[in-house]
Amino acid sequence: MASNDALTAPVAIIGGGPVGLMLAMNLDFFGVRSLLINTDPTTRWLPKGSTHNARTLEHFRRLGVAKQVRALGLPPDYPTDVGYFTRLNGWELARLKMPSESEKQRAVASAAATDQTPEPLLRCNQMYVERFALEHVGALPSVTLRFGWQCIDWVDNGDHVAVEIEELATKRRESWRCGYIAGCDGAHGIVRERLSARYDGVTLKQDYLGGPMLNSHVSAPEFYRAVRAPLCWQYWSVNPELRGNIVVLDGRGELIMTTRLNALDEQVPEADIARRLCAMIGAEIPVKFLGHSAWIAGHVRVADYFARGRAFMAGDAVHLFTPAGGFGMNTGVDDAVNLAWKLAAAVQGWGGPDLLATYETERKPVAQRNTAAMGQLTRNIGAVPIGEDMEKDTPAGAVQRRVAGDYLAGFGEEFASLGVQLGARYDGSPIVVPDGTAPPPDDPFRYVPSACPGGRAPHLWLKGRLSLFDRLGRYFTLIRFNPVRDVRGLEAAAQARGVPLRLLDVELPEGRDLYQSDLALVRPDQHVAWRGDALPDDCAMLVDTVTGRFARRTS
Ligand SMILES: Cc1cc2nc3c(=O)[nH]c(=O)nc-3n(C[C@H](O)[C@H](O)[C@H](O)COP(=O)(O)OP(=O)(O)OC[C@H]3O[C@@H](n4cnc5c(N)ncnc54)[C@H](O)[C@@H]3O)c2cc1C
Repeated sequence: MASNDALTAPVAIIGGGPVGLMLAMNLDFFGVRSLLINTDPTTRWLPKGSTHNARTLEHFRRLGVAKQVRALGLPPDYPTDVGYFTRLNGWELARLKMPSESEKQRAVASAAATDQTPEPLLRCNQMYVERFALEHVGALPSVTLRFGWQCIDWVDNGDHVAVEIEELATKRRESWRCGYIAGCDGAHGIVRERLSARYDGVTLKQDYLGGPMLNSHVSAPEFYRAVRAPLCWQYWSVNPELRGNIVVLDGRGELIMTTRLNALDEQVPEADIARRLCAMIGAEIPVKFLGHSAWIAGHVRVADYFARGRAFMAGDAVHLFTPAGGFGMNTGVDDAVNLAWKLAAAVQGWGGPDLLATYETERKPVAQRNTAAMGQLTRNIGAVPIGEDMEKDTPAGAVQRRVAGDYLAGFGEEFASLGVQLGARYDGSPIVVPDGTAPPPDDPFRYVPSACPGGRAPHLWLKGRLSLFDRLGRYFTLIRFNPVRDVRGLEAAAQARGVPLRLLDVELPEGRDLYQSDLALVRPDQHVAWRGDALPDDCAMLVDTVTGRFARRTS
């Protein structure tokens, strides 16, 4: 494959979903050209995930587009409460109160210097963000877009990857010679298939969120007139006849409705789906359907490997989540950010020969951790106690509603799992230098800021209300909290290896307290690689370690 006159790109990205788009944007950020191939001619217009978590928004902030992404979310004053009802116009069982976007922004504006994130979680459907991301990527000269094209074959030839693609509308073919291939091609992609990687784990079978499901994209502006309960972002109907979930997309009448199917290929007439929606509400309203998609819930699965040779995989290609907690795409976005700087280092020549292998070393445990947290949330959802009398206005009905309500009121963690969002750590990674301190206990629902090497650099608001994250360099950054520390040794070692390093002086006592050290070396993905009060004697060894050049270390 790949004739001598093949087209060339350092990186071929297969799949232009949220993860492939994020990888292209991050490679562009590091000045690396990519070829982005996607089967559909444009992004899908079917709603899926509505949770872009704090870390994903931090990544968008780094790329300079967080404000634009936030503008795609719900109207600023729309509440993001989750409400559980027997039916929306029946009894309210529980309500998880959550702030609107305006309230979040006010909290950010007045937050303490050591506040955990400059970018709180955003409720916004991924179809809006994907459309924006494709427009954005389309304007980047470093990205060659091939939407409406399919990767039909690829071969790792040792010193390059030959990629064969075909335009679906015309059957026209192109041969590309690329340095690396990144499979962001979802659950049924050609990259995982050719690598024969398999998903380990389980697919839960349970009453709800454990089997075939139907998502329907609905236009129903009458919804707001018909529903008497105070506004929610997510409405659940929980009763013995029917369980279902409605997520508000735009605050004006577009909704995503999720119900169970008996089989993945079951064809449910739209009139029946409309009846289900009205039964969930407890009122008749006119409904227009904009699309449907069937999917399997209950997956708690991670691929047995994430990379081989010059091929890497990210996102659903290596982990399958059930949408409890909104972790799936967000974990994939974080994969893309981890992979991007390592590919950039390889392409630009400053990465060591062992750097790319750390992609799997670092990301597979995070996928296992996040899927495990999601698996527990999914099981909790499956086990909601639903009494036969819960819709009856009787003492027994009242007891059953209280039991269900108390159980559902404990679901707050599903929607505010800050430990999953910000707490991913790369402890034990060979490119992280441990300092003998213990990392905070790993809790998916609680995030404890810590500069213990391996974790995300704790956030700080600097003087003038600048986010620390906006001041970090594009590549490695040495943060110096104590100006008397001499850092020339590390600067010289980095320069000698061609490793881009920026020095950032931060004179903020809270910063020194938070980081518990005078110096911290932060990687291009904002994780702490090393910290200390003084540079090590052998700065060259430190640079070699954090950039994956291990030969000298192990000899
Ligand atoms: C109902 C629902 C709700 C969800 N809610 C959330 C949520 O709130 N938060 C969250 O984080 N996640 C959520 N998820 C999960 C999230 O949707 C997925 O994890 C995410 O879409 C995965 O992104 P991806 O880019 O890895 O793969 P995909 O989105 O599957 O994109 C893969 C792309 O690759 C293309 N492709 C495949 N093969 C080829 C080929 N050979 N050549 C070219 N292109 C190819 C496909 O056409 C597709 O466009 C939800 C999922 C569902 C079903």
